Amino acid sequence: MGDSGWVLGIESTAHTFSFGLVDSDGKPYPSESSTILPTEGGIHPRKAAEHHADSAGDLFARILERENLDKDQLSAIAYSQGPGLAPCLRAGASAARTISSALKIPLIGVNHCVAHIEIGREQCGCDDPVLLYASGGNTQVITQLSGRYRVLGETLDIGIGNMLDKFARSNGIPFPGGPKVEQNALLWEGDSLEDIPLPYVVQGMDLAFSGILTAATKATKEDVPFAAVCWSLQEHAFAACVEVAERALAHSGKNELLLGGGVACNERLREMCEIMCAERGAKSYAPPKMYCVDNGTMIARLGWLELKEGRVTSLSESAINPSLRTDDSEIIWA
Ligand code: AMP
Ligand code: MG
Repeated sequence: MGDSGWVLGIESTAHTFSFGLVDSDGKPYPSESSTILPTEGGIHPRKAAEHHADSAGDLFARILERENLDKDQLSAIAYSQGPGLAPCLRAGASAARTISSALKIPLIGVNHCVAHIEIGREQCGCDDPVLLYASGGNTQVITQLSGRYRVLGETLDIGIGNMLDKFARSNGIPFPGGPKVEQNALLWEGDSLEDIPLPYVVQGMDLAFSGILTAATKATKEDVPFAAVCWSLQEHAFAACVEVAERALAHSGKNELLLGGGVACNERLREMCEIMCAERGAKSYAPPKMYCVDNGTMIARLGWLELKEGRVTSLSESAINPSLRTDDSEIIWA
């Protein structure tokens, strides 16, 4: 085992393969990442896994070189054990096992969704937040109750990021579509939601986005200006997220909201969360964008927290779990 206590984190749940580091005090260092960008269509899990396996050596060398570290200064390897696309998760787990057995250092399989919360808490200095986790494949409202992060509400169909990406793709914009929808929405000068009606689906604390995807795609085919549809799509979909986040704050009695996931890079979503929180005397936090998108550093940070409590993953327990739930993982750290 290395003695200087750096933890390497490997993220590989979907498009992005990423290596990140925390030092022996748990301080995060930016990740080295490679994202597969399909020229057409959505993510192909096997092709993404091949991309990840091909990038592993390069990313590992790059991050060590950038921080001027030697391999034997690593004391543990954390990796995303789930949830995610099975072939992609397998590529990350197998890179982690290889490094762990070559360097004879422990493995720590961690929960990807929990890692988003922990890097956000560390970056923003918030203590006991409700997390609005808005990413490509996930849309959940999560908070800590009785020793676990509990999902209070979530999408019943597709993730909000996938919805934005599919809408963009049907208008000829390749992945990732979310940032392009954001740029186009800024071009629209109207402010009447009635002019560009779209469905709004909130059921208690759950959400659904496939209906709005169909309706928005149809609107662009019916000659509603693209910028107008982008604007209305953001207003409706983000308002639904903010509504369930507010309900989660009210229900749990908490007063901190934390954003995470790639869609949390969106300035309008950040603004809407700030407005909602200001109106109820709560505070909204958003980590730097490099720690909103999938990144190896958040995996390293959670691995470090778990390692401090003595948790490691034996080889026989190291299999991936594509459908791992946020509340499957017990919170053993403070
Ligand atoms: P993740 O799954 O967390 O890695 O995040 C990727 C998702 O975030 C993709 O669906 C992107 O389209 C989306 N995304 C990234 N930046 C933005 C943005 N500025 N606005 C909306 N969505 C975004
Ligand atoms: Mg994610």
